[in-house]
Amino acid sequence: MKFAIISRGDQISNSLQMKMKNYLLDFDLVHDEQEPDIVISIGGDGTLLYAFHQYINRLDKTAFVGVHTGHLGFYADWMPSEIEKLVIEIAKTPFSVVEYPILETIVRHIDGGQEVCYLALNEATVKSSDGSLVIDVEVKGQKFETFRGDGLCISTPSGSTAYNKALGGAIIHPSIEALQVAEMASINNRVFRTIGSPLILPGHHTLMLKPKKETDLLITVDHKTFIHKDVKSIQCRVADQKIRFARFRPFPFWKRVRDSFIADHN
Ligand code: NAD
Repeated sequence: MKFAIISRGDQISNSLQMKMKNYLLDFDLVHDEQEPDIVISIGGDGTLLYAFHQYINRLDKTAFVGVHTGHLGFYADWMPSEIEKLVIEIAKTPFSVVEYPILETIVRHIDGGQEVCYLALNEATVKSSDGSLVIDVEVKGQKFETFRGDGLCISTPSGSTAYNKALGGAIIHPSIEALQVAEMASINNRVFRTIGSPLILPGHHTLMLKPKKETDLLITVDHKTFIHKDVKSIQCRVADQKIRFARFRPFPFWKRVRDSFIADHN
């Protein structure tokens, strides 16, 4: 079994990275940063997002597990005090794996320009670089609305607790193959009208966004931002690929939600 460890880069995460690496080598596991079977992320959810993008070309072969050196994360759910236990579990392979849906976003450009495909673990967002975003929203080939406002957030079920939640989106259990579209400050008056509620699309429905203004678009994919000129359309759907998490104990999603957002208050 081959492993890689990605650290957030702070002192605590780095020293935990060294410790885990030595433990795993003691168990005769092989350190391989190019083709790991398991990637251990040490830091927070942001570190796991980074790890996901580092190994995006081998999602079918690599499983992820997260250790948090700050507060409990959605992806980083092992505590530093549990790493000996985690190492023993990893060494006892084969381990079980749970798969979560991810988002595929294809950006197409005017005049047959290049097509760019992104995969997101949390979400993709679309904003205008100049003024309001004005964009036609099509669902499954049918015009749904013209959106005017700050932007749109298209999230995965596991990303529904991140940016999407801050926009008033629903929390979706990651066993549901879906994507969610949440509005950022839409303009609604007698002239302009959007639905105003988040939309949840099933796996077989495609969302197509077609800009109405010739402005550059800011497209974010998890923690990364890209600027696209001359965009003809942005297509979003549930990807064929999935992220695989190595699971060594039950940690139900709704408990994670409660522990992250409610627990200290009740
Ligand atoms: P970061 O390190 O600042 O992380 C942002 C926060 O989002 C952290 O508190 C992180 O733990 C949390 N987070 C990440 N994924 C999560 C998830 N699936 N569920 C619950 N919380 C989660 O920034 P980063 O590493 O660049 O992370 C990028 C993420 O930040 C984006 O994917 C987006 O979801 C989130 N974000 C949130 C807002 C907002 O809430 N208004 C705005 C921009 C980005």
